[in-house]
Order: sequence, then structure tokens, then C-alpha cells
Amino acid sequence: MDLSLDFEQGPIRPPSEAGSLLLRVTRNCPWNRCAFCSTYRGRKFSRRSLEEIKSDVDAARNVWDSIIEMSRASGSGGALTRQVLSEILRDPSLPDSFRSVAYWMASGGRTVFLQDANSLMLSTDMLSEILHYVRQRFPQVERITSYARGLTLKGKSVDELIRLKEAGLTRLHVGMESGSDKVLEFIQKGVRSEHLIEGGRRVVAAGISLCLYVIPGIGGVDLSHEHVVETARVVNAINPAHMRFRTLYVRRGTALAEMVQKGQFVPPSEDVMVREIRTIIELLDGVTTTIVSDHILNLLEEIEGTLPQDKPRMLATIDRYLSMSDEDRLLFQLGRRGGALRSLDDFADREVMSSLIEARKQIEREVPGGIPEYMEAVKRRFV
Ligand code: SF4
Repeated sequence: MDLSLDFEQGPIRPPSEAGSLLLRVTRNCPWNRCAFCSTYRGRKFSRRSLEEIKSDVDAARNVWDSIIEMSRASGSGGALTRQVLSEILRDPSLPDSFRSVAYWMASGGRTVFLQDANSLMLSTDMLSEILHYVRQRFPQVERITSYARGLTLKGKSVDELIRLKEAGLTRLHVGMESGSDKVLEFIQKGVRSEHLIEGGRRVVAAGISLCLYVIPGIGGVDLSHEHVVETARVVNAINPAHMRFRTLYVRRGTALAEMVQKGQFVPPSEDVMVREIRTIIELLDGVTTTIVSDHILNLLEEIEGTLPQDKPRMLATIDRYLSMSDEDRLLFQLGRRGGALRSLDDFADREVMSSLIEARKQIEREVPGGIPEYMEAVKRRFV
């Protein structure tokens, strides 16, 4: 029996997996060339062995059991009470794995996310065995999800994907970014729209929930129209369970930032990106996709709903923002980026409004570069 209490975790997970146990089955990204991405820059992709991964699952189980023991010893009867959680979080002698598992338990302990960027690189046999093992050691787990590249999915047959679903894989998160072949080529995504459609349809046919990520703004000013029209075309062809917006932010040190420097890429304004979202939603047709805007970079977090029934409401939300005066839109952006508000209704609050007017004056007085520099600095903190 492996009594290790430590296991490996990678750097990122989707926002919706904040309460999941992160289990690393491969390290870094096998592609690592997308122009906008710096997550795994300079880090080499590698596969982990089945033994290593199973030993990590065992370690997570050992930590889970240790936490229950700690709770019993402190008179909390095995439950993760607020007191037990705070003892774990405050004890510097415990490895990080205790904090990870404690947060996971606090979130219900029912969801697992397989890291890093493309777990579907593993053979179907190996991935199935990992999924079975996770469910064997944690029988309460209801959802196991992972990232996958569109091109890799095209290499899996529907039968293989069905096997993965039966082994416990419930959802795949795929960075589609755009449906335009011109944009995909420009950002060096290494995949074409036909691959995205083929791979996406296979996932849907296998009964695995598919979540596609789209980046408003990734076509730049030049390919903005092409980006939205083609993205809607591809989503319409796949009918994924979810589509998530993750508005563009050009990170320092990426190839895209270099293109901006050289004048080869002009990022659209915040308002143009909101209009792009509007056009994509408007063009979605014949799908039952749920749209989610849960990334902090999205200006309008409240654009959420299921097609077709929620389309008018989502479009009305966007129109409400776009019909505001230039001054109000700027104040709204300031409030959203500064954390003072989350929705258009929050903006209607007179107190919020007057504090934003004050904040604006203060930023213009005190921040070199004014509002644009302030917004840039805030976004940089988010990513
Ligand atoms: S495939 Fe994903 S993780 Fe890899 S470089 Fe592209 S965006 Fe980054």
C-alpha cells in the first residue's frame, strides 16, 4: 500500500473546475505554439506513467483519509468543519496536497479534473484505466473532465470516446478559440475548422459533454467579421453542450504581443469584442448550446443562457450595455475591472455610480497613462 501524502498538480484548470481535485496525467502542452498562450512556454511536454498517476490517486486518497482522522481527533466526528479546514490551511508543516484535498472536500469532493493541456494524448486503454482507478478510490466522484485539443479528438474514434465515457469521462474542455481557418492559422492553433467539427461531433456522438472555448477579439480588427461568422458556423455544425467566452487579453511575452508591437495585429476595443459576442450569439442557429461567460476577462459576465430560448434575453443584455453613453460604458468597464460591480443592474445603483465617478477622477489624476493604463494593469493581474 502506497502511504505517500503528496501528489503532483499542474498550473491551470477551467474556471468551472475551481472545486475539483486536479490530477496530473500529462505534463505541459504537446503543441505549445499558440500565439496568444504562454501557460507552458519553455516547458517540455511529457507523459506520466500509469504507476505514477495511480500512486498520485492513492496519495490523494491517503490525504483524504488523514483529514478525516484529523477531524475525528479534534472532536469533529470526521467532518470537514470550518475549524478543521482553518487548521489545515494554517499549518505550514502540511504539504500543499492537504490544502488541495481540503478545498476539494469543502466543495463536495465529487468532481475531478485531469491535467494538463491535452490528456487525450494518452491511449484510450491507459486513460480508461486511470478513469476506472479514480472512481474505484473515490466512489463518490460524479464528474471527471479534462482539456483536449481539437486535432487529438479527430484521432479518436466514436467507439473509443464511448469507452472513455463508460470509464467515467463526463466532459471535455476544448480551446477552439475561433472557427475561422484564417484566424486559426494566424494564431498558430495547429488545427483547421474541419478538424474541430469532426472531433467535436465525435465527442457529442459519444455522449460526452463538450465545452468549446471561444476568444472574442482573437481575429484582431482585420479579421473581426470573419472570426465571428466562422465561429458561429463551426458551433452550429457541432452543437456542443457548452460554449464559453474568454475575452482576448494579449499577454506579455507571447508571439501575439510581438505581433502587436510590429503592427501586425491590432486588438479590437472592449466594445468591439462585446459586439463580436453579440453577432456570434445572433448567428447561432439550430443548436441547444448553453452559453457561459464565467471568465474574469469577460466584461459582461451575465451573458449566460441556453439556446434557443434564452437568445433574446442574452441579446437584450448586450444591447442594454451598447446603448449606454460613452461615459457610462467607460464607468461600467472601470467598475467591472476594479471589482466594484458585476452586472448592469449593479451599475444602476446610485452609490456605485458616484463612487465610480470619483474613482475615475482619482485615476486620471494619479495614474500615469490614465484609465487605459489602469485597465491594462488590472487585467494583467487577472491572468
Ligand atoms: S494548445 Fe492550449 S495550452 Fe497548448 S499552446 Fe495552445 S492554447 Fe496553450
